[in-house]
Amino acid sequence: MPVTTRRPVVAGNWKMHMTIPEARELVLGLVGPAAGLEPAELIVIPPFTALAEISRLLEGTGIGVGAQNLFWEDRGAYTGEVSGPMLKDAGCTHVLVGHSERRQYFGETDQGVNRKVRAALRSGLTPIVCIGETLEEREACATGVRVGHQLEEALKDLGPEEASSLILAYEPVWAIGTGRTASPAQAEEVHARIRSFLEEKYGKERAAYAIILYGGSVKPANAYALFLEKDIDGFLVGGASLEAESFIGIAREALRADREVK
Ligand code: PEP
Repeated sequence: MPVTTRRPVVAGNWKMHMTIPEARELVLGLVGPAAGLEPAELIVIPPFTALAEISRLLEGTGIGVGAQNLFWEDRGAYTGEVSGPMLKDAGCTHVLVGHSERRQYFGETDQGVNRKVRAALRSGLTPIVCIGETLEEREACATGVRVGHQLEEALKDLGPEEASSLILAYEPVWAIGTGRTASPAQAEEVHARIRSFLEEKYGKERAAYAIILYGGSVKPANAYALFLEKDIDGFLVGGASLEAESFIGIAREALRADREVK
């Protein structure tokens, strides 16, 4: 379904953390406070092993559940892989595609990202497509080229309707898990570029409604200033999503900025 509103979206990527009991405890700490945060949209992204249990616990709460990866085929002899229909079956609404850790440690390519985006959409999952430059690329003033290329490849052959059904996450690799956040101006510069890329490709209206998250060492203390930027629609959060208080704190700050300014 196309994304037609730009309400704050805050997604928590738990990475390779949390046993099932730990995951259960974390989401139980989110449900109460999250109820007071509408219209912000919260999404938790647990490891595969906890997906079914967490989806069951969150049913009816409005909190979305995402997986951290999927394979591009729907079924078959692909040992160790998990498909879109399987994620749907486990109760997922979203799936991360092309996270920089997948690209860095597991050899994911831009072409593979495109195949995974299409597989996710085919299964009725909202892909959260991650793009972002390395420190070397930023220092070589190649951020725009790198991000533009990743975007072009990730969205290759997608129609306007499909492109409107995904979420983009700009995550500078040098800011992920490092405690070093992009400044609001640095992040906005790239977000604005991403939106104009979408405008050129899919038109003004679709670009205006596109959800573009920022990720990279987001915490409650920096979320407000980042969210004030016009093209930042929310956050993809790693480390700070592992505790209910900081994850909720980020959503609260985004909502405060949204109410004050947007
Ligand atoms: C991430 O894993 O997508 C991320 C942004 O991590 P962190 O918030 O820890 O930098």
